[in-house]
Amino acid sequence: MLRTHTCGEVRVEHLDQEVILCGWVDSTRDHGGAVFIDLRDRYGKTQIVYGPESGPELVEEAGKLRSEDVVKVTGQVTHRPEGTLNDKLATGAIEIRGTQLEVLNKSQTPPFTPSQQELPGEDLRLKYRYLDLRREKMQQQLLLRSQIIKVMRDYFEEHDFVDVETPILGRSTPEGARDYLVPSRIHHGQFYALPQSPQLYKQILMVAGYDRYIQVARCFRDEDLRADRQPEFTQLDLEMSFVDAEDVMSMIDGLVVRVAKEVLGKEIPLPLPRMTYAEAMERFGHDAPDLRFGMELIDCSDLAATTEFRVFRGAVEAGGKVRGINVKGVAEQFSRKRIDELTEYVKQDFSAKGLAWFRMESDGKLWSPISKNLTDELLEQFAERMEAEPGDLMLFIADSWEVSCKALGGLRKRLGSELQLYDPDDLNCSWVIEFPMFDFDEENNHWVAMHHPFTAPLAEDQALLGSDPRACRAQAYDLVINGSEAGGGTIRIHDSTLQQEVFDLLGLDATMARERFGFLLDALQFGAPPHGGIALGIDRWVMLLSGLDNIRDCIAFPKTQRATDLMTEAPSLVDTNQLEELNIRIVPLRDK
Ligand code: ASP
Repeated sequence: MLRTHTCGEVRVEHLDQEVILCGWVDSTRDHGGAVFIDLRDRYGKTQIVYGPESGPELVEEAGKLRSEDVVKVTGQVTHRPEGTLNDKLATGAIEIRGTQLEVLNKSQTPPFTPSQQELPGEDLRLKYRYLDLRREKMQQQLLLRSQIIKVMRDYFEEHDFVDVETPILGRSTPEGARDYLVPSRIHHGQFYALPQSPQLYKQILMVAGYDRYIQVARCFRDEDLRADRQPEFTQLDLEMSFVDAEDVMSMIDGLVVRVAKEVLGKEIPLPLPRMTYAEAMERFGHDAPDLRFGMELIDCSDLAATTEFRVFRGAVEAGGKVRGINVKGVAEQFSRKRIDELTEYVKQDFSAKGLAWFRMESDGKLWSPISKNLTDELLEQFAERMEAEPGDLMLFIADSWEVSCKALGGLRKRLGSELQLYDPDDLNCSWVIEFPMFDFDEENNHWVAMHHPFTAPLAEDQALLGSDPRACRAQAYDLVINGSEAGGGTIRIHDSTLQQEVFDLLGLDATMARERFGFLLDALQFGAPPHGGIALGIDRWVMLLSGLDNIRDCIAFPKTQRATDLMTEAPSLVDTNQLEELNIRIVPLRDK
């Protein structure tokens, strides 16, 4: 090594020793005759001084150093003079009196420095990612990520899991997103698809007898990006044989406890709570409810049905719901303007028809712009149902069940965060189970799998496949951390007849199913054990465990919202001869 110590290592116990440090110039201060340098690497910072005893040449040379130059410093460890100790820095009791200086590499003036107070714009950070990754915060993120993955690997190794890599160039896998395609040079006109997940390979591994599989797997989905999505992302992918849903969940319970303890020093009581999908939607309007706070949805449809007020009664008569949330104690602080904003929000984001609101006055009476439409008796019943107290504000959505879930779930989430109804340091983990097998796609008039088409129905619901698919529940489970889906999995179908029955429902007849998943259907006929698994979103875990809300800060080289890499400028045009080899010519079909 060119160095004897890192920049975070030297302490008073090294006093008088000669040390050699290498690193980046974080800052320099010229005090006339003495130059002070903060030298930085990923372990920390150390103060270096080139003063009179270093000789004028070295002082002059040190004075020329600029931010981000890479240098090798030799010097003597000394106490910092009285009154100049820096207890914010691990090395703050010492400084190095420089005796030699070698510039290993000069840096141009950087567009931003890693320790500047103000964070530069994200585009600039992504373009100069190597400078951004020098920032302490980013280093902490990447270290946290590395630590989480290590704890996961250790845990699964202790539980006899085998780490198997599955192909990146493969056939389209049906997670329901758009595929990234790779043209074949050898088979003109044919394409590989990048894996949306290793789903089918891991099922095949179960048939092959590797009864406990894990992989830190890269997955690719060409979707429109949101704040917490990336076109390529990493999953801790897992599959187990001879298990039921409870077995998979308790294996992950153990993992959650272990990661929370080893990475965050937090104790999580077990088992993690399990709640059915139906209950989650009913109480929280969301399939990944944030359980750090209450403010649950309260159903007032029966009361609403008895009013003359058309908006309320009409919603119930049309088969919908009138439900509300009680935002405790905020009636005074919520102006009309703020309520109007919330109304706009539910209309815009969730296509709700509107937002009705009541507040409880100090005399215990409910008041609302619509209260004239309601009898005193009914107002009292609403107040009682909503457990209202003076100062409470109640928000109601009168709409279809779906819209009322989305809108109230959205309001709950937004207000929970705006009103800081929870401690952001809390780590709340739980399971949502028994998801519906299918969703009906109204636009295209067909059933789609809610998870993926290999998911097994609950044994007691299997008969509903033929009679009432909407009511058929799946052996599915999602792990929820602080109101975000942090993982999801299912018990799979291991019987080819049942698998075909589900394909049929999804509109994949035997010929189409054979064409796309023939290998799986075959495998299911050669001794497939009962099996199931889960995938945990690692980028998301890092984000949730560090309390960040930007997934790009959890990934070393992420893509922008427009799916570009600003540093390498991918995607990019390619040479015509590369295209020729692939037998491809670009002919624009339409302008973007
Ligand atoms: N393959 C699924 C996914 O990526 C996870 C699973 O079912 O194990 O969401």
